[in-house]
Amino acid sequence: MNNEQLETQDPFEQEFYSRYNEWIQNEKQIYPHEWNRASDIYDAFRCLRMYVYNRIKWKEQGAPDDELVKVWKKGEEEEDIVTNYIQDKLKMTYYRWDQSKYLSDEKHRFRGRPDGVGILKTKDGQELRRIIDIKSVSGNIFGTIRTLDDIINSKHWWHRGYYYQAQSYMGLMEEGPLVDLFSSKQKKDFKLITIPHDEGVYQSILAKCEEINGWVDKYFKIQELKREKEELRKVAMNIPADEEKFGKLDGIEAEDEALTDEINALLPELPDRIEYDTALCGKSCKYKDICKPFEIFRSQGLKLHLTDEVSIEKAKRWEELKSASNEFKIYDTWLNELGKVYDPETQPEAKVLIGSNYVITFKARKRKDSYYYVKEVANLDELNKPQKVSFPSEAGGKSTHVIFDEFELME
Ligand code: SF4
Repeated sequence: MNNEQLETQDPFEQEFYSRYNEWIQNEKQIYPHEWNRASDIYDAFRCLRMYVYNRIKWKEQGAPDDELVKVWKKGEEEEDIVTNYIQDKLKMTYYRWDQSKYLSDEKHRFRGRPDGVGILKTKDGQELRRIIDIKSVSGNIFGTIRTLDDIINSKHWWHRGYYYQAQSYMGLMEEGPLVDLFSSKQKKDFKLITIPHDEGVYQSILAKCEEINGWVDKYFKIQELKREKEELRKVAMNIPADEEKFGKLDGIEAEDEALTDEINALLPELPDRIEYDTALCGKSCKYKDICKPFEIFRSQGLKLHLTDEVSIEKAKRWEELKSASNEFKIYDTWLNELGKVYDPETQPEAKVLIGSNYVITFKARKRKDSYYYVKEVANLDELNKPQKVSFPSEAGGKSTHVIFDEFELME
């Protein structure tokens, strides 16, 4: 709950917020993840380890936070609205997929379901059929996605994932093309991006499923062997000392060694972590607490890990100032270059005026055989906009004045 919701003293508001909060908590369900899911395929399985966790540790994944649940629920509602609209207003024949049924590929332990299938009949009686996937997005995203390339090359990996998701649905249905139907959350506006089926991409997705299945099977095999080792340990501990001499322990030790060899031959247990990625590991991965991606830094000599808010805020501010100072250097160099417009041999000081309020005074200083410039920049707006600024006379010439109010040059 946010602060306003927590602080209210009104009983009606309290009751409302408490029910709302209860509803959100109930929506945080975690479902079994025994197969690879088409809806999870983002960026062609960028972190294989995460996909293996999906299958072996799905019960331990962190519950989604409240804000994410609110976004999901809003998305589901939008999907209902879009479905009703295309059926009622556009008269599209639309078969919405039964949420409890999946398209399955048993061999690759892969399953998924698109939102539906739409059929539009043209005036001359032709039936146009497409698999439909509804994407309800903010107005900002709606504006940036214009073509299929915008999806494939998006800087957001979850947008790039739309393409692989579409390929999965088409592959599982053995049909194409698919239309990503983007709906703006801001206003009644739609955008259709048609995605043709690419069998090569689909086969690469299936190959990844195979790879994940291989890791999953291996992981469970290792756990089974570890359990056998544990059982052996318990048996060994229960052998009375006077029976050890009959060689019972020797047999157990040999068996234990054989199990250890078998485990070692199967290792590693999990695919490597990807290089730490703020968006994927830091913000999106449900398994970061199990995976401990920060361990990567430990192997690279991590000595200190500050987690307090003050330190985090200071680091953020440092980053902001750093990028601002980099930008400052670019413009400062440009200003310095302006100083080269006059000859320091004949004129020790000069001014440059930019617009009606920036006055830069350059003073030349001699260093051995060359000159360098010291500059002062004044913003006349900040100096209460004086009426006149006098420029130094050129050798033997006239002085020049600028009247800023009327902005005309006088000689
Ligand atoms: S925390 Fe990062 S490395 Fe670990 S599983 Fe998640 S995405 Fe992969």
